[in-house]
Amino acid sequence: MTLAERMNGMYHDLETLSADERELRTWRRLEQVLETAWDKGGEFASRMDRAGLTLSDIGSLDDWARVPVLRKKDLVTMQGKGPRMGGLLACEWGDLRRIYQSPGPIFDPEGHGPDYWGWAEAFHAAGFRKRDVVQMTFSYHLTPAGLMLEEPLREIGCAVIPAGPGNTDKQLELLTSLPVTGFVGMASYLRIIADKAQSMGLDLKKDLQLEVAFVAAERLPESLRRGLEEDFGMLVRQGYGTADLGCIAYECPVLGGMHLSNRCHVEICDPLTYEPLPLGETGEVVVTPFGTVYPLLRFATGDLSYLLDQPCECGRTSLRLGGIVGRVDDTAKVKGQFVYPSQVAEVAACYEQIGSWQLVVSNPGGRDRLELRLALTAPLDEQEFIQAFQAKCKLRPELKVLGDDDSMPADAPALVDNRVFE
Ligand SMILES: [Zn+2]
Repeated sequence: MTLAERMNGMYHDLETLSADERELRTWRRLEQVLETAWDKGGEFASRMDRAGLTLSDIGSLDDWARVPVLRKKDLVTMQGKGPRMGGLLACEWGDLRRIYQSPGPIFDPEGHGPDYWGWAEAFHAAGFRKRDVVQMTFSYHLTPAGLMLEEPLREIGCAVIPAGPGNTDKQLELLTSLPVTGFVGMASYLRIIADKAQSMGLDLKKDLQLEVAFVAAERLPESLRRGLEEDFGMLVRQGYGTADLGCIAYECPVLGGMHLSNRCHVEICDPLTYEPLPLGETGEVVVTPFGTVYPLLRFATGDLSYLLDQPCECGRTSLRLGGIVGRVDDTAKVKGQFVYPSQVAEVAACYEQIGSWQLVVSNPGGRDRLELRLALTAPLDEQEFIQAFQAKCKLRPELKVLGDDDSMPADAPALVDNRVFE
């Protein structure tokens, strides 16, 4: 199949809705979720009750941010509170199709219906097409990854090899003895397979037939993507989702962000107040999937990202996430501004002379102080660096260049919060 054939076309009409159409559809779907959760889910009713709200208080999309969030880290305890996962599940256990378990431990219930987790449009955007032969290297055991990501392949009409993770020799044997055109798994694992194949003298373009890869579950450095695309002569696209929610966003042929999925409502919120932030600002990803079996309303993922508002050349009209920049637990609010180690890393990466760095937040006399400790391998223009830091992170750090006597352990945390609040 040609590259153009893989990159063209939409999976369904929802991908090109106008902003008004999308808003109307979003609210209609949210209303269904809201009513189901209110009627059947004890958890949601009590969450609303604690906030002094009833169903009639949420009458439009404008009211949506009034719905109190459900934080991922609270799921473990809530799922254990009584029948039907503490009232989170809107049906009986036996009505489900599958029940998975992810680390936590957290149960992930799966309902019936085609493409339940909503990944089909993501796989189509990544270039997967009918009659592809796809090697699935995510686990099929207990966690949802393998089966969850096999559903969309079935919808599109691909044949799947349920290889599961590990056993690189076996993976390579499959890749060379069958006409495998698609790979699903972690990009870092595809790199391991590629290195092994090359060490055995195989030609990745001639001896293998890979044309597309869908990767997830880890940060994808552009250098890793480029290397794989060049070595195999293939497309590598990533998706973003969680075991609780399914698909949240995905890349299209045009790189530079991940389109929001049409099967959920996504907000970027202040991680403390959960108020939606203006477009472009970094905050916590809060998601409400449109499914009614396990209605997770305003589910706060703990992931940090931001939305891009420029239209995408691919023709899809949904907004795009600019990438996952970190976890809420790894951030701190300093002088009213969240500081994200991943953003600091981006700035530091532009200066070769910075060997390592660490952010230290303190509050002497009750005033926030942001110190950036630097281990340098050569002199640094500190003023220039501070300006670059400020442009990216909106905060001005005090630099402390470590001398030969000070050392920074290799496993030192990127952010240390030493503030005392009395
Ligand atoms: Zn696009």
